[in-house]
Amino acid sequence: MNEPIGPQTVESGPGSTVEVPKRTEQKVADTGREHLFAAASKTIYLTFDDGPNDGTDAVVSVLESTKVKASFFLHGSVVAGGSSENIKKNEQRLKQLVKQGHHISNHLWKHISAYGDESPATLADSIERTDRRIARALGRPARSTFDPIRLPGDGRFNKSFVNALQSSAVPAHQGMGQLVLTGPNPLRRSHVGWSFEFYPVGTFKRRPASPDWEGTGVTADYLPRYSPRGRPRNGAIILLHDMHWVKQPALLRRVIVKLQELGYRFGTLERTVRVASRGAAAGAVVAR
Ligand SMILES: [Zn+2]
Repeated sequence: MNEPIGPQTVESGPGSTVEVPKRTEQKVADTGREHLFAAASKTIYLTFDDGPNDGTDAVVSVLESTKVKASFFLHGSVVAGGSSENIKKNEQRLKQLVKQGHHISNHLWKHISAYGDESPATLADSIERTDRRIARALGRPARSTFDPIRLPGDGRFNKSFVNALQSSAVPAHQGMGQLVLTGPNPLRRSHVGWSFEFYPVGTFKRRPASPDWEGTGVTADYLPRYSPRGRPRNGAIILLHDMHWVKQPALLRRVIVKLQELGYRFGTLERTVRVASRGAAAGAVVAR
């Protein structure tokens, strides 16, 4: 279980070796190549985007059986989509996620394909509308705020998002930043992206963290086949999508169990993520 396989240190430039305070708070290191939460142990963060949907149910049962907590970034339009029966089901899914200790947050009302050069006001509205819809599903006050959010397309591919992600320390493509939308409806939120991808059929063309994994597809012997370099680094934020696992919960379970055997622990990205407005240390995350 504690076999020293995989990344033991963060192998990057100055600033990446961050002293971790005695409590669980950890500073974020900007490596210039990928975005890392420098972790005391091999802690990684599973994040599931674009839900809720049937895949959420499959994922939740796997997470329960492996005792792993994760973050879910939800679309307001998906929560509120389909028949009244489907909406009811989605609301139950959200309640279950929270009940089981997962972190849920805001992935805007729709996905990136729905956004062009939108005005800050439109984006702010999309975020707030989604907050309200998630809050309603959970029976919380309408003004509830869910943080950190994740912008569609990770905030990297849409001009409006890139412009709105203002952080002198962390460019949008580093995967985390402070979203500042000005105008009549000003809004300030934290955005958290991802640095590593698990995808059952491996079609993404980005290799932000681990060149060995991308494009190969996940198989039962996925993890052992690759060198430590091809595995998630300490603090990696892992992108997944609920819907991709709907028919393969057993595969997801094997991947998670294998990661546990390799000594990884799993944290969630809480609303306590804070992005500093200055300095090299870009923010903090509380792992649990
Ligand atoms: Zn998405």
